[in-house]
Amino acid sequence: MLYLIPTPIGNLEDITLRSIRILKEVDRVWAEDTRVTKRLLDHFEIKTPVSAFHAFNEHAVTTNIVQQLKTGATFALASDAGTPGISDPGFLLVRECVRQGVRVECLPGPTAFVPALAASGLPCDKFFFEGFLPHKKGRQTRLKYLATLPCTFILYESPNRLVKCLEQLSEFCSPERQACVARELTKIHEELRTDTLAELLAFYKEKNVKGEIVVVVAGTGE
Ligand code: SAM
Repeated sequence: MLYLIPTPIGNLEDITLRSIRILKEVDRVWAEDTRVTKRLLDHFEIKTPVSAFHAFNEHAVTTNIVQQLKTGATFALASDAGTPGISDPGFLLVRECVRQGVRVECLPGPTAFVPALAASGLPCDKFFFEGFLPHKKGRQTRLKYLATLPCTFILYESPNRLVKCLEQLSEFCSPERQACVARELTKIHEELRTDTLAELLAFYKEKNVKGEIVVVVAGTGE
């Protein structure tokens, strides 16, 4: 059995009681960054051993992990923050488990795009999750595609690229399109700002933007 454990995206109170219990009960926790996960486990006085599972070793360790799961081990997979597999490592391992008949259970819990979308004030009945845009090659193609979507779409963005991202969204969608910048969700300096892309751009151009960011953009509505 493999459990996917969502971990807090800022506020440690957001871990669920079930996640804490499963983290205590499993044979091992596979973690994107063992130091980050050990800090979380220490906070909840969880003594389970932790090993590394990240973008650079996931191909190499997946076969071994699945083998151990097939012979009866129970593992948890955790990323630094949020839900494993959502713009984070996890997909390769889960796919292999599913192919080989190993049970996978994802516990419900934190992920950054859901609170951003739900609190943005933009339509959330239908949406498209893009995650991170490519930095260079393919970026314009994705932006062109996203600009035509009838439904709301969601991007993950770093603070130093936010202004460039808003400039490009304004260019590809239109400066009048509604959007929301959700920054530092669940943290002390949480900020959600919903406005036209032109107004958001004017606001963030003047700021030294810090923290973690989700950008939610209204669709064409057609
Ligand atoms: N697995 C995570 C999830 O379920 O949301 C996403 C991991 S991805 C590597 C990290 C990105 O998620 C950040 O660059 C940011 O775009 C977004 N993010 C994570 N925590 C956030 C927060 N507290 N506030 C706003 N965005 C956040």
